[in-house]
Amino acid sequence: MIDMDTLVSLCKRRGFIFQSSEIYGGIGGFWDYGPLGVELKNNIKRAWWKAVVQDREDMVGIDTAIIMNPNVWRASGHVAEFSDPLVECKTCHFRFRADMLKSENCPNCGNKTLMEPRQFNMLFRTFVGSVEDDAAVAYLRPETAQGIFVNFKNVQDTTRKKIPFGIAQIGRAFRNEIVTGNFIFRDREFDQMEIEYFVKPGAEDEWHARWRDDRMNWWKNALGIRAENLRVRALDKKDLAHYSKGTFEIEYQFPMGWSEVEGIASRTDYDLKRHSEASGKSLEYFDDETKEHFLPYVIEPSMGIERCFLVVLFDAYQEEQVRASARTPLSKSDSGENVEGERAREEKRVALKLSHALAPIKAAILPLARNRAEIVELARKLTADLKPMMPALYDDSASIGRLYRRQDEIGTPFCVTVDHQSAIASDEKYDGKVTIRDRDSMEQVRVSVDQVKQVLIEKLGA
Ligand code: ATP
Repeated sequence: MIDMDTLVSLCKRRGFIFQSSEIYGGIGGFWDYGPLGVELKNNIKRAWWKAVVQDREDMVGIDTAIIMNPNVWRASGHVAEFSDPLVECKTCHFRFRADMLKSENCPNCGNKTLMEPRQFNMLFRTFVGSVEDDAAVAYLRPETAQGIFVNFKNVQDTTRKKIPFGIAQIGRAFRNEIVTGNFIFRDREFDQMEIEYFVKPGAEDEWHARWRDDRMNWWKNALGIRAENLRVRALDKKDLAHYSKGTFEIEYQFPMGWSEVEGIASRTDYDLKRHSEASGKSLEYFDDETKEHFLPYVIEPSMGIERCFLVVLFDAYQEEQVRASARTPLSKSDSGENVEGERAREEKRVALKLSHALAPIKAAILPLARNRAEIVELARKLTADLKPMMPALYDDSASIGRLYRRQDEIGTPFCVTVDHQSAIASDEKYDGKVTIRDRDSMEQVRVSVDQVKQVLIEKLGA
């Protein structure tokens, strides 16, 4: 697997990810997504939403506010308990998360001068309205989950869903992490995709196992992540969050080691109970069949899009040696003319072998000669025809070899090359066809111009 620096450099160079406020030196734990990054992020969201909401009868979606009544966070336990153990070094004053230290020495200066850990609350605070006093304090949500819990009744009353059913949400979350790092792996602002799945008490263990398997299958099948790079781990009791009866973590094998990309927690009725007690409003469910009122138990599959983004890129990145033909410099032929030759040589090819659903651009239309009006015109027309059907782009800014390399590196599954034979009726080899090149096999097929759209739609759907 490649190292993190190689991936960071590709993301910057190709416009996937930039440092936030880069021209001012950046700000730790915040990132901006460029033209390709935003497409990939949206494709990840779409794949998740389709799998967990649109394809299922037992799920619905919601979109709640980032800032909520601060009592939500008091009731959920975040104001009191959403903290990590912080240690500071007396010598260099760097700060670390105590549970992530590998030795008693400071990872920055190497001295054995780390102070005793203290709890550091990771909630971001702000003020609502024009007065900045304690009464106006509010928090940026550290998870999207609570927006779902406090709307449980609204959703259930309006949809008449019967348990077991779930509510899904995608949205921003903020955590004032003590240490950020590993590129976008640990951020202070990130996007979560969370599900709260409500079940009858007693059914939670069965549903916990079902969601563990469902989610693992999604990573493998919907995203195409290689099975050998994924694993599930059941957390030890001592590592469980305050609300959890049991948690599975899906981990990916990153260059820095196996690390969590999704948690699937069995949250009991902890949250609904706390919110019922604190708000004085019943959040009980009424079971029509048994005529019982009760608080459902909850299974929560929760993941961050940034970690998923990293997984997708690491897993798709491939370097290959390929044979490329290169033009040799002009030389004199026997008859004294200047001629060009061709020579085969080995070169490194970087390809992002993203699944078709995730690829930011599905097809790139490349004219072989940008000084021939007929070729350019046809290539532009093809691009305009394809655009309503799929993200497609036109590029004539370099030689064809370089254009292919660029598209391989951003994961474009198909390049369509327009040449003299495609466009120029007076060319003796004119056939009205273009070449479609497959990113993975590098195979090239000739296809009539009027069939390109259909062929691409079929190939992309496969
Ligand atoms: P960690 O142990 O890595 O701090 P966590 O157990 O606190 O993570 P959860 O509260 O379970 O994480 O959050 C659910 C998911 O949200 C994680 O699996 C991860 O994908 C994502 N996530 C959590 N914190 C961050 C962060 N600081 N930056 C990016 N993604 C995050």
